[in-house]
Amino acid sequence: MQFGNSVRFVLAAFCLALVAACTPMRAEEGRKVTKLAEGVYEIQHQPWVNVSGNTTVIIGERQVLVVDTCFQPSAAREDIAQIRQWTDKPVSFAVNTHFHNDHNLGNRAYMDAFPALTIIAHVETKKEMDMFGPGSVGRFEQGLAPFRKMLETGKARDGRVLTADETKEIKNSLAEIDPQVEELRKMKFQSATLTFDHDFSIDLGNREVQVKFLGRGNTGGDAVVYLPKEKIAVVGDLVVHPIPYVYDGYPSEWVQTLAKLVQLDAETFVPGHGPVMHDKAHILLVRDLFKSAVDQWNKKLVQTGPGMFRTQEEAKAAVDLTPFRQRFAGDDKNLSDEFDRRRPTGESRVSGSQHKVKSK
Ligand SMILES: [Zn+2]
Repeated sequence: MQFGNSVRFVLAAFCLALVAACTPMRAEEGRKVTKLAEGVYEIQHQPWVNVSGNTTVIIGERQVLVVDTCFQPSAAREDIAQIRQWTDKPVSFAVNTHFHNDHNLGNRAYMDAFPALTIIAHVETKKEMDMFGPGSVGRFEQGLAPFRKMLETGKARDGRVLTADETKEIKNSLAEIDPQVEELRKMKFQSATLTFDHDFSIDLGNREVQVKFLGRGNTGGDAVVYLPKEKIAVVGDLVVHPIPYVYDGYPSEWVQTLAKLVQLDAETFVPGHGPVMHDKAHILLVRDLFKSAVDQWNKKLVQTGPGMFRTQEEAKAAVDLTPFRQRFAGDDKNLSDEFDRRRPTGESRVSGSQHKVKSK
């Protein structure tokens, strides 16, 4: 592995620790607005140290609802400026699809701009946001500390002296990241202000929006926002394109939740990250991936009997998802690597709790 790759890998890893969800957007992808229907837009965001989830803007005759509010407050403010060009109606509601903070650290920016804002999340999502949100910046800085130390000492973690290229790469990466960290230091965490546990609907003025909990998957409280008339579903990180994101989810329940998702009468799907989808093919592929992982995992457990896999590597080895790599990544080497890093093991946080991977 090239050192540069390992820097990026470790940076990605601390992004994961920070947000528990980080889909690196490739450099050629920038902030992009896609009109889904009259008054309904998806916004994909610029690459940053950690990429914001997609934001969806739903404009009614009286009020506006946004789904997910970005990782960085400055991105949220850019979106707010954009929304004000589209409409003079206030953003009255923000739905956070889940607790990962690449979807909700912009809450405060929205509340500052629209003080009457109601921020909605599933009850489990609010619980986890309250647990993980306030410490986000500290964890972010902790993740950077080893790189700062490398620069100070001139040595890699294994004690080896850094080459000039390695030093340059770390310096450049930190120079890019530092202003962003500074922005986060000034950010004030704002949690959800209204919770739900099953589903409800809002009329924004000639525009019905349904907010649903279809079951656990990516997290314990994934919200799906559904526009029945427009046949649009905004699904958060239950579905991420191109490579599914699995960090602290519930793979076996995820399969069931995706099965319910594809039953919705929708023709347009907004994933948590990535471009708008106009069919269910990718969702079905993600469902098949998780199903294969879960089935293999369970079969292995029958063979080995109750017990623990001693390491993550052992757990990963129990599940062969090679046939899916090409289907998700094509011939793209970076995507293939990403697939290998992120692929599910099939471990369920609930049904397989007695078989959890033992930490080293
Ligand atoms: Zn995300």
